[in-house]
Amino acid sequence: MLRIGLVMLQGARHSHISALERASRETGHDIEVHELRKSSDLDSVELHAIVMPGGESTTMRLTGNDAISSLLPAIFEWIREDQRRPVLGTCAGAILLAEPGDGGEPLIDASVERNGFGSQADSFQSEIEAIALGREFPGVFIRAPRFVETGDGAQIMAKLGDEVVGVRTQNRMALTFHPELSQDSGFHEWLLETTAEQWVET
Ligand code: GLN
Repeated sequence: MLRIGLVMLQGARHSHISALERASRETGHDIEVHELRKSSDLDSVELHAIVMPGGESTTMRLTGNDAISSLLPAIFEWIREDQRRPVLGTCAGAILLAEPGDGGEPLIDASVERNGFGSQADSFQSEIEAIALGREFPGVFIRAPRFVETGDGAQIMAKLGDEVVGVRTQNRMALTFHPELSQDSGFHEWLLETTAEQWVET
């Protein structure tokens, strides 16, 4: 059983649950999704992987750092504790991985520009090259961030033309689009496969 934590601070959360369930059926890996709202939610269960959804990173920083939740510091600590831990960060989730904003090292080797593709009106859908999956993938971009620079520690995992839209550092995947809003659960399958490789299923 793979225990996947889903950061519930704000934004596109519930479609990640459907995408994870679809990925579970596709890969045959049983999962349990644990909704994370406050730091103590990480103490009560031993998680194998975490999903950080899209939404509004500024709101997530506010709600995730307040004294009652303290979820973000706990998430970053969990990720840093073991670099093999699989994480899927989408859109605002990718921003938080690139800029945790807690004075610590970035969690992916890339810098991002918020709303780098423009405002809400510039949101779009486009086929992208999902290098991680070895095929095309329907990319849904909503006020998407843009990777400005990628370092040696970042593997390019998805491209929109010449533009990098997905990178991986260790087992942390940061995507500037919303894979959970397409009918294709490929990136969630990647998360489950990577998680299963790291941890013997119990
Ligand atoms: N523009 C948002 C931000 O800056 C990200 C958009 C998204 O997650 N869909 O956090």
